[in-house]
Parts: sequence; C-alpha cells; structure tokens
Amino acid sequence: MLNIVLFGPPGAGKGTQSQKLIAKYKLVHLSTGDLLRAQIAEGTALGLQAKKLMDEGFLVPDEVVIGMIDSALEKNKQATGFIFDGFPRTVAQAESLDRLLAKHSTGVACMVALEVGEQELVKRLLERGKTSGRPDDQDEAKIRRRVQVYNTETAQVAGFYDVQQKFHSLNGIGEIETIFGQISDIIDQHPVAKAETPAAATKEVRA
Ligand code: ADP
Repeated sequence: MLNIVLFGPPGAGKGTQSQKLIAKYKLVHLSTGDLLRAQIAEGTALGLQAKKLMDEGFLVPDEVVIGMIDSALEKNKQATGFIFDGFPRTVAQAESLDRLLAKHSTGVACMVALEVGEQELVKRLLERGKTSGRPDDQDEAKIRRRVQVYNTETAQVAGFYDVQQKFHSLNGIGEIETIFGQISDIIDQHPVAKAETPAAATKEVRA
C-alpha cells in the first residue's frame, strides 16, 4: 500500500493537490474536514458537535477524527493506498494513524508539507469563502485562529515524521502543476513507496 500524508496550514492547497494525486496514484482520498462536513450535512449528533468547533476554527476532539479514520480504513479494505488530507493534525492523531495502519499491515510512506505564509493563506481562504459556503472561510479572525491552531497544535506533527525520516517540505506558492510535479517526485523517490511492488500489495490483500 502507498499511504501519503499531505500536510500544511489551511489554504496551503492540500485539497487541490489531493485530487491530482488520487488520479495519478489511484489512491483513496481521506479528508477529515470532508468527512466532518458530511456528518454536518447529514445532521448527525457528531456533526452537530463538530460544527460549533469547526465554525470557530478550533480542532474537533482527537477521538472523533480517529474514529472516523478507523471506519474509513475498514470500509476501504481493497484500496491500494490512501492520501490523508487534514489528518493527522495532532501528535496523538499521528500515533493513532500508525496504530490503525499497522492493523492493516501497512504504514505511512511519507509526509509532504506545503509551506505558505500567513498573509497568502488569509488571502486564499477569504477568496475561497466567496464560493465555498464555509463559515470558517468567511471571517478573517476565524481564518487567523485556524492558522494559529496549526502553528501551536499541528506543526509539531512534522517532527513526528521527521524522526522517522518521512518528512518532506515544499514551497506551496507557485503553479499547481509545478507543485504537483514536485510532490510526485518525492513520492516516486521515497524508499517505502518504491519498495512496495504491486505483487507485494496483492499478497497483502490476500493475507
Ligand atoms: P482547512 O485545511 O482549510 O482548515 P479542513 O477541511 O481540513 O480545512 O478542516 C476544517 C475544520 O475541520 C478544521 O478547522 C477543524 O475544526 C476540523 N478538522 C478537520 N480535520 C481535523 C482533524 N484531523 N482534527 C481535528 N479537527 C479537524
């Protein structure tokens, strides 16, 4: 399996690059933000609880998103790999992801971080807010809070993957295609990704 973590602050371009990566590498896209918004749309109790936190720019509790990822992995047992977008956002989530993937005899190949400065993030998210309908994209104070939460709670997740020699960082400002090429190069050159042949993946599914 090829499991990639796409990392970076809100508005860095993770969603855009995820769409291109799933098409190229035939991965299943797991965005905790999308999964949470689906719960809100369905009007579930979980969605209701999450909405208040999301609208204000705070993280939802670890156990909520970890539970969602657990069931998504169970539902997609035939997948040849996953792209994790917006998850893990805390070290506790990163530890849980390793544990959950180990249950499926796999692990994270690499993390790719998209670096974008706060001014550009605010500009991009306010622009997205004009059409996305997301309350958290329409208020500068909420956007800045999300960036602050990223800096204080999420940025340290990079260190978790760095000690495992799986962390890579890229400039997230530039042409979408150029950045996509750079992410692809990292994935292709990654020893774990390379070592996993289709034959090994098939064996894993059968086991
Ligand atoms: P963005 O990257 O633009 O902030 P997301 O869709 O990834 O957008 O996340 C939107 C909101 O959903 C976050 O601000 C947070 O409240 C919640 N959320 C998403 N993923 C997680 C996560 N892994 N842990 C905790 N909260 C999350």
